[in-house]
Amino acid sequence: MSSQTTSLRATVPTPQPPCQLRNFIGGQAVDGVRTFTKVNPVDGSPIAEVHEAGRHEVDRAVAAARAALDGPWGRMSVTERATMLRCIADAIERRTDDLVAAEVGDTGKPETLARDLDVARAAANFRAFADIVSAAGLDSFLTELPDGRRALNYAVRKPLGVVAVIVPWNLPLLLLTWKLAPALATGNTVVVKPSEETPSSATLLAEILVEAGLPVGVVNVVHGFGADSAGELLTTHPGIDGVTFTGESSTGSAIMRAVAPRVRPVSFELGGKNAAVVFADADLDTAIAGLARSTYLNTGQVCLCTERIYVERSIFADVADGLAEQAARLRLGRPENPATTTGPLISPQHREKVLGYFELAREEGATVLAGGGVPTLGDGLDAGSWIEPTLWTGLDNSHRVVREEIFGPVAALIPFDTEEEAIALANDTDYGLAAVTWTSDLTRGHRVAQRMRVGMSWVNTWYLRDLRSPFGGVGLSGIGREGGHHSLEFYTEPTNVCVQL
Ligand code: NAD
Repeated sequence: MSSQTTSLRATVPTPQPPCQLRNFIGGQAVDGVRTFTKVNPVDGSPIAEVHEAGRHEVDRAVAAARAALDGPWGRMSVTERATMLRCIADAIERRTDDLVAAEVGDTGKPETLARDLDVARAAANFRAFADIVSAAGLDSFLTELPDGRRALNYAVRKPLGVVAVIVPWNLPLLLLTWKLAPALATGNTVVVKPSEETPSSATLLAEILVEAGLPVGVVNVVHGFGADSAGELLTTHPGIDGVTFTGESSTGSAIMRAVAPRVRPVSFELGGKNAAVVFADADLDTAIAGLARSTYLNTGQVCLCTERIYVERSIFADVADGLAEQAARLRLGRPENPATTTGPLISPQHREKVLGYFELAREEGATVLAGGGVPTLGDGLDAGSWIEPTLWTGLDNSHRVVREEIFGPVAALIPFDTEEEAIALANDTDYGLAAVTWTSDLTRGHRVAQRMRVGMSWVNTWYLRDLRSPFGGVGLSGIGREGGHHSLEFYTEPTNVCVQL
């Protein structure tokens, strides 16, 4: 790995003084109570001093959102809001280079990935929800009672109100806009708490939204951490009407407790321990390429990534060899190098966690087919949070590394003999986010996909999304669904109007 990346050497950038990232409240950049340093995971260099919001700043952000809800924004028609969403999508596309730079600086992901996935999806999210909200229907019933009375019942959708939007670091802009677009489409105002690891793109987006014409106060951003910081101050704030959260299952549980006293609605997209099942009749080249993508994309830091791969015994060795070869071929390196496929993990702390699982896998008896440690990359990168794409065999569902979410570039390959066994193994988890079935027998594909206990079940593909379709998880993987009209349901309160005729 090291000689490969050294040969792709780019010039080491001259260190720049870290920029100041402030909270964005009521259209103003607002200082925090203190600052913390955001570090570039590529090389460990400081890139920003981030202003952590305290109680006063969170109060101000919620008040700004409430005032905006009561202002002209609250009176806009659906058509006007849809037009605004399309303007926002255009504005995002105009600022693609700046957003890519922000996302790459925070995460270290390859520029091509940030451009093609994160920023492209951010614009697509706004366009999709402009269309979805424009086409959304409402319940209406003509009522005819036995006593002869007649009435027209119809429901009107009102915004939930001031929504707390709390997002993680793995696809920061994509996941933020996935919530922001439907929240704005339905007339809400929001206070966003981005991850402490990825404060840059949310701050930039807030500015872009105002440039695009969104009234000030509709979207506010507060920076900070979770417990005892901006995250907790927001979820316990009496002015919040609902919380939409993406992140770890344990954080979802803490947020549920935080909002319980005021009985606020929550929408949770949480962790996963996703399975892929590969049948002997699968097109092997396609399946192996698909498995490599679903295991290693974004350095394994996508909630949908595969961490358990069940392979029919007769092709186990072929899949193991093929996937190990794909893992070894990934090119770790600087984000701006077009040949780079794989960035670092998000932070030294997260790498410690993932390396802890690498150690545990060895203790649990894993055979390491690829990777298994920290690469030596040179090129000024070795202070970054790099890790080798890794593949294990020799484990089963009783092992902790096969049961707990790792959220890194690693999967365990496990053999099976029958379809029933494969389904049982895949469903043997407390999580339930996504699954993939690889088979050339489409009847079997449908049958197996439907029996997966997950929110999203793919056949012969992975992470192919139609933004109108439901997205979410069962069990520890979440509550509720996002996407299409499912998002609209969370962000609105229907009121029924009954008029006697
Ligand atoms: P995390 O739960 O640690 O943090 C997510 C966000 O919550 C951050 O902004 C954080 O500051 C905030 N937070 C933490 N504790 C909080 C508290 N007590 N109150 C309020 N806010 C709090 O998650 P992460 O490490 O940033 O992200 C990785 C996790 O996200 C993985 O588990 C991954 O599977 C999950 N994820 C799920 C999906 C999905 O759609 N299901 C998508 C992406 C990531």
